[in-house]
Amino acid sequence: MSEKHRFASRMIGNPVTRRTLYAFLFFFAGSCVGVAQSQAQYVAPVERSGFQRVTSYDTLQVFLKEIGSTAIVHVETLAKSKSGRTLVVAKVSSSKFGEDPRKLRVLLFGQQHGDEHTGKEALTMLLARFASGDLNSLLEKIDLLIVPQMNPDGSELYQRRTSDSVDLNRNHVLLTSPEPRALHDLFYQWLPQVTLDVHEYGTLSRSWSDSGFVRIADTQLGMLTNANTSHEVYSLQHDEIFPYVAGYMHGQGYYFQEYIVGSPSDRVRHSTTEINDGRQSFGILGTVSFIQEGIKWRTREDRLERRVKSQFASIRALLEFCSTHADKIINIVSQERARLLTLSGKPIAMKMDHFAGMRDLRIPVRMVATQRDTTWRVKPYHGEVRMQKSISLPDQYIIERKDSAIVQLLRRHHIIVQEVKQEAQVKVTAYTIDSTFHAEVEEDVQPFVSVSSRSIAKTLKPGDFIVSTKHLQSILIACILEPESMWGLTKYEQFGYLLKEKQYPVFRIQ
Ligand SMILES: [Zn+2]
Repeated sequence: MSEKHRFASRMIGNPVTRRTLYAFLFFFAGSCVGVAQSQAQYVAPVERSGFQRVTSYDTLQVFLKEIGSTAIVHVETLAKSKSGRTLVVAKVSSSKFGEDPRKLRVLLFGQQHGDEHTGKEALTMLLARFASGDLNSLLEKIDLLIVPQMNPDGSELYQRRTSDSVDLNRNHVLLTSPEPRALHDLFYQWLPQVTLDVHEYGTLSRSWSDSGFVRIADTQLGMLTNANTSHEVYSLQHDEIFPYVAGYMHGQGYYFQEYIVGSPSDRVRHSTTEINDGRQSFGILGTVSFIQEGIKWRTREDRLERRVKSQFASIRALLEFCSTHADKIINIVSQERARLLTLSGKPIAMKMDHFAGMRDLRIPVRMVATQRDTTWRVKPYHGEVRMQKSISLPDQYIIERKDSAIVQLLRRHHIIVQEVKQEAQVKVTAYTIDSTFHAEVEEDVQPFVSVSSRSIAKTLKPGDFIVSTKHLQSILIACILEPESMWGLTKYEQFGYLLKEKQYPVFRIQ
């Protein structure tokens, strides 16, 4: 079907807004007088519903088909979910996606949590604008990868997790679910310099209202918090991008703040330092990686228009910054990614925590007693992350043949693992596990391990594995493999066996 007919057929039987009616009349008049290059106008399903309904999986697929082979947007299948639904990626470019290395590559993905719809809706609106040719100026310096719906199964069930109960935003280390695995494959294919993971936060929690507040930020933008993250990337996020997006949002009449978790009676902090979520797992690879949290009210449709439009505005502001500072961002990221190849012998943070620092944070809140909107100076505020324990990064790690499950996991992260072909004697550092105790960290109970190390001669046997750390994934490799890493494999049930023997089965070559 031609663009024209597709557009016309969509108009029939759908609620027609004044804007789309004018667009249609203009388009119709244009074709009557023979305007050669008329641009079809696309409208996202949530807008067509007058912001009355969130978009179902089926409706989303129809929409993606409509826009999927336009001049600007090209839609491809990314993966199948556990229940067989399709995840798509839309490649958005004013030329051919990925062809021009001077263009900044940005990856946007939404709805990892199935009950958080507004990220998907905002990304769908963005796709409609691009397909209609409305945002062409943004694309002069950037190419975009957009995955609007990471968790179609959870979305249809209106639940956070997938149909087999996986929290996808805690699966970015193990990568056992097809959805995040496909997202990481996409990342390694194109190595985007900027990533944004779009979510929603609940505002009606008792822990806040009991303290007399309801949080009302339309969107929160979260930056990198892991202590291993580069200072340059963090400064770009915190000192330049964040104020730009904040200014844009205030100008549009929205409340906006830096992303926090915790509550007034607990430790308010800038979310987890863990590397198994969508933000930090890419951030640890030298990426300017963000999380954005729109607001969640009582139901999925409650105040839907403002929720979707504010998510859209916040994403648009980020893209505007990226577009006008593309060269600078490319430079910072390529320097950081080059640095990641040279970390052998350098300290890598294994344990870290949030502390009250010198910074001050004020956030928009509604007072429960008076229903007045005001600003609250966050207290107690644990806004700084400090390293508590580090190791020196070795040149290589040795993994024994029997632990091929670790190797499979590393390969899911596109880490190059070599197999030993010939028996050889090498000097390695071996870890002895001295003690393991369980403690709560960021609302989860997990093992904390203490080790001592000694130098031993080890016979490498055919089938054993060697992992070099001279890779983009250098910090990730250490964080996964080191026994004292608070975010390492030992915290996952599948790898609990690593702590069973006195000797930890991963060895270091310095
Ligand atoms: Zn979420």
